[in-house]
Amino acid sequence: MLSLVSSGRDAVADLSLAISTSSDPVKGILQGIKGLLEDAYPKYIAAMNDVGTCCAIGLSVPQADALEGTYEALRTRASLKPIRDELLSLVDRLGSYCPLCGIEQASTLDHYVPKSAFPEFAIFHFNLIPCCSRCNQFKGKTSYGTVEDNLFIHPYFHALDAYELLKAVLLQRSGTFYVEFRLDRPEGVPDLLFEKIENQVNRIRLLQRILGPAGTELASHAQNCELFAASGGTAMVVESCIRQADYWKGAAGTNHWRTALYKAMSLSEDFCSGGFLSFVPKYDADSNGLISYGS
Ligand SMILES: [Zn+2]
Repeated sequence: MLSLVSSGRDAVADLSLAISTSSDPVKGILQGIKGLLEDAYPKYIAAMNDVGTCCAIGLSVPQADALEGTYEALRTRASLKPIRDELLSLVDRLGSYCPLCGIEQASTLDHYVPKSAFPEFAIFHFNLIPCCSRCNQFKGKTSYGTVEDNLFIHPYFHALDAYELLKAVLLQRSGTFYVEFRLDRPEGVPDLLFEKIENQVNRIRLLQRILGPAGTELASHAQNCELFAASGGTAMVVESCIRQADYWKGAAGTNHWRTALYKAMSLSEDFCSGGFLSFVPKYDADSNGLISYGS
């Protein structure tokens, strides 16, 4: 659940370029609807800014097909490829992680409102969200009548960092630790926005998908904690977790699973005061063989 800063592209210039580099009959079809599309773009921005409604303008099948083909050309036509490349590069600051899950690499562009229902936004940069292929599949191609029906967070318009939505807690079981995540609803989150957040988290199965990577991250940092404890005791272990939480908050936002995980680690007295040793392998000095985990 990460926000993105828009590319700042000129949507009308992108459209003009797409038209001028098309061949007939697509070129003629696009020229015929250019004015309609230019009118639709600001309406999309207004609708997303207040999470309101925006109805499809009702293009014909040939017009929709022409726009769908133009979207495919973002991948294949040399003059349009830089548009796709720039949109995918928006996640570079996140280490190229998908803004929806924060787990996998963002390698595809998802149409926030599907191009099947809203072909007018097929190549509109605000409607193209870089994400991973799994999230793209989970989101699916449900047909929407209005923008309001699309119950997903819009990464360009919905800034979520003001709210701590993803909470983690470290729990103990069988002498070691594991992490549990939950979605929280802090005060001040509007109803419709929270409905979108909840729907997205469920649809992309976020809470289940982050458990594996979070377990690996927990075990990895736990092993470093042995060194931190040796140099500064429990306080240094807590400090190392807080630093990691701050780093991920700055790099990927309040609601990235790593931010929540490190905060939970810093708050677990049992983990920071020696519990981390349950992840540290112990070796038999004579045979160099692994004999156990823990102190
Ligand atoms: Zn994803």
